[in-house]
Amino acid sequence: MIEPFLTAVPVLKALENAGFIAYFVGGSVRDYILHKSIHDVDIATSATPKEIKKIFSKTVDIGIEHGTILVLYKNASYEITTFRTEEEYVDFRRPKGVAFIRSLNEDLKRRDFTMNAIAMDINGRLIDPFKGQLAISEKRIETVGKAEDRFQEDALRMMRAVRFMSQLSFKIENKTVEALSNLSHLLENIAVERKRAEFEKLLTGSDRRKALRMMIDANMFLYLPGLREQKDSIETLLSYDCENLNVNEMWSLFIYCLGYKGKLIENFLREWKLPIKQIKEIQHILHYLYQRFEKEWGKYDLYLAKKETIYSVETIFNTLKDRKDHGSIDMFMNMYHLLPMKHRSEMDVTGRDLMDWFTKLGGPWVNEMIIAIEQAILEGKVENKKTEIKEWLLKCNQI
Ligand code: ATP
Ligand code: MG
Repeated sequence: MIEPFLTAVPVLKALENAGFIAYFVGGSVRDYILHKSIHDVDIATSATPKEIKKIFSKTVDIGIEHGTILVLYKNASYEITTFRTEEEYVDFRRPKGVAFIRSLNEDLKRRDFTMNAIAMDINGRLIDPFKGQLAISEKRIETVGKAEDRFQEDALRMMRAVRFMSQLSFKIENKTVEALSNLSHLLENIAVERKRAEFEKLLTGSDRRKALRMMIDANMFLYLPGLREQKDSIETLLSYDCENLNVNEMWSLFIYCLGYKGKLIENFLREWKLPIKQIKEIQHILHYLYQRFEKEWGKYDLYLAKKETIYSVETIFNTLKDRKDHGSIDMFMNMYHLLPMKHRSEMDVTGRDLMDWFTKLGGPWVNEMIIAIEQAILEGKVENKKTEIKEWLLKCNQI
């Protein structure tokens, strides 16, 4: 066995010592079989949430009604979920209720895809009742049981299928593709936040273009926020080779393909219920991206945009221009690093200094002058030193 499972073994042992059974399950086992890096280790157990809380001293109830407890153990945290089956589903969404059970097999049966329905015990032995390992070796995404039934139970699984396609470069098995096409309309019932989480993973997966193609072919896009009328824009998006773009860069590129500016950007991202902070970051990128088509970066633009945005804008710009040579990124990053200052707080004068020099009360003029000085410093017209700045202001007949 390898890390991070090894570190988690004592957690499983603690559950077993208390008389329960416990296994590693889900994405971590799948990624382990795929030799991919493992980000979080999920644990499934026959212990109920109450029983789990008795065993571990530090726990957080993160989804107790679904049987999930977060256990903090030696500087790490683990999601431990009680074996469960899901009772009848309502509105193609959430199960009406969950029933805690003591059988691993029943728990694996309620999982979405065969590759995600493999358990591993503390000795590294795999329990794989649905031939998930075979599906993994054949790079195949197939549901546990009949695809139509499983998508009707929870339509989010359709989004998950295409996002795994993107992340793992797997193919979706034929019957499952058919079910996607027949049932895509059920996505309408799914909460935007859940769809967004899967869509963002799709956008950053290595096979995103194939996954987006599948979303179009199966008409899934019709049931995603703001995309009903946007088939052509999605086609445009997938025509770009966007391999090295992160999630905000992908959103920005997508919005560029949609042709949105100003308020339309915010409206679209709000429909997707993105956090405000992320919306602001994307708006910032797009502002400079559109500007980038008009002109090259000036020093003051670099200063205002900041490092991350410059990097993102150039990366997207190169993608749009189909430029494989990333020399421009290095060049502008270098220009940024050479700027005489990176932030207003580094200026050697303050508003107070200006008020003293001019013997004038504060007002909008202070900020205007600060901006003028800021620009002069960045463009190399004056050194960032109090005495020099005062002299420069005198020379410009400002004082
Ligand atoms: P990731 O590596 O992105 O975390 P994951 O497969 O671990 O992928 P999670 O959302 O963390 O995905 O879910 C953990 C496990 O729970 C899955 O592997 C799967 O077994 C099960 N699961 C998650 N969502 C569903 C669902 N909608 N229907 C059925 N099973 C699900
Ligand atoms: Mg996971």
